[in-house]
Amino acid sequence: MKRPSIGVRLTLWYLAIFAVAQVAFGAGMWFLLRHHLYDLADDNLEGQIEDLRNFMEAQKKNASIAKLQEEVAEAYLLEHSGDYLELYAENGALLYRAAFLQDHPVSLVAPDQFRKPVFRSLWIGGRPFRFTVRRFAANGHVYTATTGIPMDDEVETLGLFRTYLLMFAPLLFLVAAGGGYWLSRRALSPVDELVRTARDINGVNLNSRLPKLTSGDELQRLSDTLNEMLDRIETAFLRVTQFTADASHELRTPVSLIRTEAELALRRSRTDAEYKEALRNILLEAERTTGLVQQLLSLARADSGRETLHMQSTNLAEIMHAVEESWRQVAQIRNLHFSATIAEESFIVGDSTALRRLADLLLDNAFKYTPSPGTVSLKLERKTDSVMMTVQDSGIGIAEEELPRIFDRFYRVDKARSREQGGAGLGLAIAKWIVTQHRGSISVESHPSQGSLFRVELPLSVAPAPKPVLA
Ligand code: ADP
Repeated sequence: MKRPSIGVRLTLWYLAIFAVAQVAFGAGMWFLLRHHLYDLADDNLEGQIEDLRNFMEAQKKNASIAKLQEEVAEAYLLEHSGDYLELYAENGALLYRAAFLQDHPVSLVAPDQFRKPVFRSLWIGGRPFRFTVRRFAANGHVYTATTGIPMDDEVETLGLFRTYLLMFAPLLFLVAAGGGYWLSRRALSPVDELVRTARDINGVNLNSRLPKLTSGDELQRLSDTLNEMLDRIETAFLRVTQFTADASHELRTPVSLIRTEAELALRRSRTDAEYKEALRNILLEAERTTGLVQQLLSLARADSGRETLHMQSTNLAEIMHAVEESWRQVAQIRNLHFSATIAEESFIVGDSTALRRLADLLLDNAFKYTPSPGTVSLKLERKTDSVMMTVQDSGIGIAEEELPRIFDRFYRVDKARSREQGGAGLGLAIAKWIVTQHRGSISVESHPSQGSLFRVELPLSVAPAPKPVLA
């Protein structure tokens, strides 16, 4: 079953609490009024008894029962306060009984039980009454009096009060329901607005943002947080789109070169040597394309977090010796002077394949951008808590304004020249990623026509315990 909206739920809760409060308040007020009215009636009854006591006090001390009967009848027969009076003398002799009580005898409690004054509400002949019975002393005698008053007005007042309560309560309830719903809708209307806008945001209009709220409350925090999240998603999305566009562009060039080469070769019949030359060119382009695809794959995997490095204690010096070995030959072919100074035993926590690749990428650039005659040097130094790898060349250098961008993907200072050398502007981006993964830093110093110096600083790890020597 679909859950009702927050607005409806809030209203229902509000109404439930309101209804309980309303019932409690109504009932409370009704009981309070009742208590007050009965209190007044009881005061009235007490007053009547007090008057009676004074009257009895005024009688002769040794007056006979008959005399007393006569006196009381004379005083109370026409008095309102005698309408519901019953008076007994000490010995149980009846001194007075109102006509009403003769028709409707009232027995509140057994005569021997009323030590304290007793008050009772009774319905007699369909009318409400309040009666009291009490024993009082006057003139040295003890009398027992029962007296009452009709409570029609009080009961009517209470009835009216209850009717008004029952009449207005539903009305108040309806007004509260409407008000509650309106309030909750008003408070939550920004949420609907957020939902509507959020629903419309897709890959094409990812630059749209949720409405900026200024309410300073939770909803503003929610919309601000969602907008910040959209900023991050948009940046990531643009990066991916840009990467795809750049990658496609980079791949188009070698593919069209291969195609042109093949088309040209096939246009007319050629000599064996010409076919071989064409195939060699095609092979060269295919090799470059494979390299490019590999670089693209590395970056894509790095972006998606799937390029996992196997970090373990690695002797960087060993890796550098292997790197030096492989580049020595290249230096000879390119007629460049290549020197390497490698510190002994430099253990870091790292991925040996990635670290080798890092050195290869930097040396590849150094050799690519250094015309003969020139020098390229590789250095590995140990510092207090890091190792410093430096690749320096005496090549073409990089202009100062280009330096901040050379680590960007697909960025090349001289596109044509770089492509000629087989570069797609991804090498340094990959190098930077490897360095970051090793919690290191990479920097460059370069001057046009003077050469470049790339520095990589990697945190040093404690050397592993030496392996036990077998006897
Ligand atoms: P590429 O594959 O094109 O060499 P990189 O990301 O490795 O791409 O380098 C980016 C750009 O930085 C290169 O195109 C080149 O212009 C410049 N660059 C990198 N290393 C050097 C260097 N040692 N000397 C001169 N320029 C360099």
